[in-house]
Amino acid sequence: MPRFTTKLFTDLVIWMIGFGLLNGASFPFFAYILGIEAKQVFTFTFWTATLTAGLVAGLINYTLVRLVVRPRLKILADHMRIVEKTIGDANFTGNWSSCSIDICRVPVDSNDEIGESAKAFNDLVEALFRAHNTEIAVSDFSKTLSSQLELDILSKQALELFLQYTNAMAGAILTESAGELVISAHHGINDPKTLPNSDYVRQALRTHECQRVQFPPDVQIEAVLVNFRPQEIIVVPLEFKNAPLGVVILAANQTFSPDITRLLQFFRRSFSLALNNALIHSHLQRIAALDTLTGAYNRRFGLIRLREEFNRAVRTGSSLGIIMMDIDHFKSINDTYGHLVGDRVLGQIAESTRQALREGDLMVRYGGEEFLIILPGASLENGTQIGERVRRLIADAVVKDGKQFIHFTASLGVTAFPIDNVEHELELVKHADAALYAAKHQGRDRVVVMQ
Ligand code: GH3
Ligand code: MG
Ligand code: MG
Repeated sequence: MPRFTTKLFTDLVIWMIGFGLLNGASFPFFAYILGIEAKQVFTFTFWTATLTAGLVAGLINYTLVRLVVRPRLKILADHMRIVEKTIGDANFTGNWSSCSIDICRVPVDSNDEIGESAKAFNDLVEALFRAHNTEIAVSDFSKTLSSQLELDILSKQALELFLQYTNAMAGAILTESAGELVISAHHGINDPKTLPNSDYVRQALRTHECQRVQFPPDVQIEAVLVNFRPQEIIVVPLEFKNAPLGVVILAANQTFSPDITRLLQFFRRSFSLALNNALIHSHLQRIAALDTLTGAYNRRFGLIRLREEFNRAVRTGSSLGIIMMDIDHFKSINDTYGHLVGDRVLGQIAESTRQALREGDLMVRYGGEEFLIILPGASLENGTQIGERVRRLIADAVVKDGKQFIHFTASLGVTAFPIDNVEHELELVKHADAALYAAKHQGRDRVVVMQ
């Protein structure tokens, strides 16, 4: 149809009045053909009457179309304006609470092109909201995790967000540690210990791709992994520059929608980055805290830990055992066999000591061949027993140098908090030192207790 103006309704009025007038002008000819006399129809009055009738019919048609079509187009246009304004305001204020799909949806009340336009508009609004929700989820996820360097806290927070945004009911995060997968966080899993050995986990790490396992309702599930009936389990591998970092496992009682699986890919990239940072951080922390020759904590870190444990003992009224240990005649071992063998003896002494300690006890390389052993919760009696166990394990150990078997011993001084006149952790160390001095003085290879 040719267009006369840029306005639809102006074009309509031109067309309708034009056709009305054409009808009016041609009506006398039809009347004549139908047998009405020429002198009656080809008169100025008759022509004026038919032209007027045609004009009125055109105007009525136009008015009707305008009354029926225009309000519906206006609803569509007004809603589009509301959406435009709401999104514009929210972008400016950052407050998206007034934006909801229901506010911005237009009614679809006809089965025609206008109804189709309304439907297409609603689809567009939904797609916009979905994109916006994804953006919020991704930025919330990245913001929460990007500054977290503590591996345990990071994993717990990440798992919470994974569960929240994917509607999964159970999940776990496994991370690589010294070539093995360890469970960093889990929720709703019956027996998390079985997860690292799962074929799906191995496959996800090998293929670098998500593994999706669906359980249709008619399929019997043998292993009871979670305490609800999962419909889908997804295993998401985590990696940084192709190096595996771990996996995220999620189980839901429905299948994961395409939107959620797309969102998971964003989360996966963001979490892998945060996890890599946390792993580097924990590695650096370990390196900074440990002595490389013996694997014991270094003096700087050991003194910080000693202060923490001392303060805890003061605060909670619990006891704290301390042992100061020095290798006997170590100089002559060095002089006889050389420094390298001396180093191996130091390593063996650290190993024997470790065997005698409980979880939570700390071994610190306090000086060259002096070790400080911190025993949280240990009384003087416990400390003496542990000291004796250390002494015996060292005395029984051997280091081989060629055909030579090198034996060595150590002297230990034990003390424990609470003890009279000790209000500072270094005073406790001084007491242990005095006990060690006494042990050396009494002939070495022994444990002396300072009360
Ligand atoms: P004592 O029974 O009185 O303790 O005799 P000692 O020979 O052990 O005497 P002392 O504690 O004075 O000797 C410490 C020696 O330990 C001297 C030093 O060369 C050696 N030493 C300290 N650190 C290291 C180390 O990292 N490697 C080696 N091989 N030797 C070390
Ligand atoms: Mg010494
Ligand atoms: Mg010594």
